[in-house]
Amino acid sequence: MNFIIITLVIAFLCNLFGLIYTYLVLYTDFFSKVKIQKRKLQPELFFQRLPLIAFNVFLLFTLSAAGLYLLKDFFILNTVPSVGVFFIQLIAILLIDDLYFYCFHRSLHQNKYLLKKIHSIHHRAATPFPLEYIYVHPLEWIGGAIGSFLAVIILQEVNIYAFWAYVMFRNLHEIDIHSGVRSTISQYIPLLGTTEHHDLHHSKINGNFASTFNIWDKIFGTKIK
Ligand SMILES: [Zn+2]
Ligand SMILES: [Zn+2]
Repeated sequence: MNFIIITLVIAFLCNLFGLIYTYLVLYTDFFSKVKIQKRKLQPELFFQRLPLIAFNVFLLFTLSAAGLYLLKDFFILNTVPSVGVFFIQLIAILLIDDLYFYCFHRSLHQNKYLLKKIHSIHHRAATPFPLEYIYVHPLEWIGGAIGSFLAVIILQEVNIYAFWAYVMFRNLHEIDIHSGVRSTISQYIPLLGTTEHHDLHHSKINGNFASTFNIWDKIFGTKIK
């Protein structure tokens, strides 16, 4: 089960990066010139947020390990994919996962009970910092994790290298769009959700429900103008 351990190491390293990025955003001036948030950051909130963030990182590891074990027959291991297969599978997982996330996230906003009891925790972050991507109610975190496994089941056959790339990309992208730091690379990649796109969701809370891509908000008319 080496592939499960490697997946967990990738997730761990991404979150370690998120911790360093959070430190730089909250406690140094390193990114002060490229911050898009006009609202004031509150560095003291980091230690209040930490227990739930740590618990959800633990959930991330256990859910990933359990999901990968249950779906192990869907993965192609020990075969390096061609460049074409790698990118097609990577984009397919990202698209399916993001469409699922869009529907899930939008329902958390439209159902006032779910918004109040579950999703309002994530929206305590009016001016998010990088690791607040995982500052969510544990039930929301579990519900959101279904998207990637749904993608694997729909595709039926996924090369593990494409899945590892997905884990890395999705994690780093989530960390980035909560950073409040102006998008550099992502603004040049067509249809990719930017920090500006998700930061607007946190400040206005009435649209921009997608995460990885911005197409779903355009298609379903929920883009914040
Ligand atoms: Zn939301
Ligand atoms: Zn968010």
